[in-house]
Amino acid sequence: MKTVLISGASIAGPTLAYWLSEYGFAPTIVERAPAPRDGGYKIDIRGIALDVVERMALLPKVRALRTDMKAAHFVDAHGKVMATMDAELFGGREDADVEIMRGDLGRLLYEATADRAEYIFDDSITSMTETDDGVLVTFERGPSRVFDLVVGADGLHSNVRRLAFGDEGRFARDLGCHISIFTVPNHLNLDRTEMGRALPGATALMYSTARATDARAMFLFSSDGQAHDRHDVEGQKKTVAERFAGHGWEIPRLLDGMTEAPDFYYDSLSQIHMDTWSTGRVALVGDAAYCASPASGQGTSLSLVGAYVLAGELAAASGDHTAAFAAYERELRPFVTANQDLAEGNLKGMVMKSAFQIKFQMFMLRLLPHMPGSSRMAQRITENIHKAATSISLKSY
Ligand SMILES: Cc1cc2nc3c(=O)[nH]c(=O)nc-3n(C[C@H](O)[C@H](O)[C@H](O)COP(=O)(O)OP(=O)(O)OC[C@H]3O[C@@H](n4cnc5c(N)ncnc54)[C@H](O)[C@@H]3O)c2cc1C
Repeated sequence: MKTVLISGASIAGPTLAYWLSEYGFAPTIVERAPAPRDGGYKIDIRGIALDVVERMALLPKVRALRTDMKAAHFVDAHGKVMATMDAELFGGREDADVEIMRGDLGRLLYEATADRAEYIFDDSITSMTETDDGVLVTFERGPSRVFDLVVGADGLHSNVRRLAFGDEGRFARDLGCHISIFTVPNHLNLDRTEMGRALPGATALMYSTARATDARAMFLFSSDGQAHDRHDVEGQKKTVAERFAGHGWEIPRLLDGMTEAPDFYYDSLSQIHMDTWSTGRVALVGDAAYCASPASGQGTSLSLVGAYVLAGELAAASGDHTAAFAAYERELRPFVTANQDLAEGNLKGMVMKSAFQIKFQMFMLRLLPHMPGSSRMAQRITENIHKAATSISLKSY
């Protein structure tokens, strides 16, 4: 039985493990966190990615956990609603698409694979040495082991990518914005509702989803070319506090919540672009290989579909990993490109540049429901996303 070491137990890693075990491989997942990671933002599963979830028999469970968001309101400095967007339009979602909390999806995928894969938590790969018949892997804590193949499913700042392909800087494309997300008390008693304040070059928002007892705050802002230290959490909190000081609404309370937040998250919005996603016996999947950034809204779908295709091609190639990795890239690359291409356009609507643009946008949002053919217009907005989300057909391996 072929052994495959997967680094990362979020979305791409467990999905890959599920399908590999289905095809008779023996997957092992090493995850740096001490347990399956909870938390994170609401994410969409769209188009063909839903077929992957359905083939894993997880669709009813995923649907049962949908966020069920109803509306998003834009407010001014005093909390007065300036414009409201229907959640379906707001999320660029088709009827069948599902929005779910990232932590909920991660937990479902973990539960679906806990007895199909060997899980090693609280550890990380330190080196990989390829030999003729395997990869000798050393770990921070555990003893070294040999695997037939190694796959990096360890996200935007992938450890496996760094070890096998080199520095992240060679592959990362900065989209010019930073994002921070964390849990806050639901002091506005929001019920499946989002409220946000658009500022020139920045957006602050807060929402609470179905079944949630708390809320999430998100701060998104143009970085103006400023780099950030990924490991300096206090510095990151200071940046968010300074950037959003003096802008009214609930922002001061959200910033207060940041100090205590158990799950403070901060990163740049970046994409990963690589000429190839494999070298020798090592391959990459999900954000590690082709991060599309939260601005695309398609990162999770890419991870689900990418993991399905990679496992399938490994099965189809009957052990010839070189042929399988090449087929994986051939099959997936147009889908990746179409979805990565969504990000820059989406970002323009997520962070508006000027006060004039914000005013104009609010005016259009107020006008839209009263315009003849408004549902057709809304459809056109979702069309690009739908096109990208369905731009691959799944083979049955
Ligand atoms: C604000 C926000 C909004 C988003 N919105 C959407 C959306 O609407 N739709 C959508 O589809 N996607 C969205 N995404 C993106 C989505 O969450 C990711 O694209 C998706 O989860 C990628 O999955 P992944 O498994 O490849 O990587 P990740 O989810 O990043 O997981 C990587 C895993 O690897 C682990 N790891 C890291 N380093 C190591 C190491 N050295 N050793 C072992 N393990 C390691 C990490 O702990 C983590 O568990 C959003 C993301 C954010 C932040």
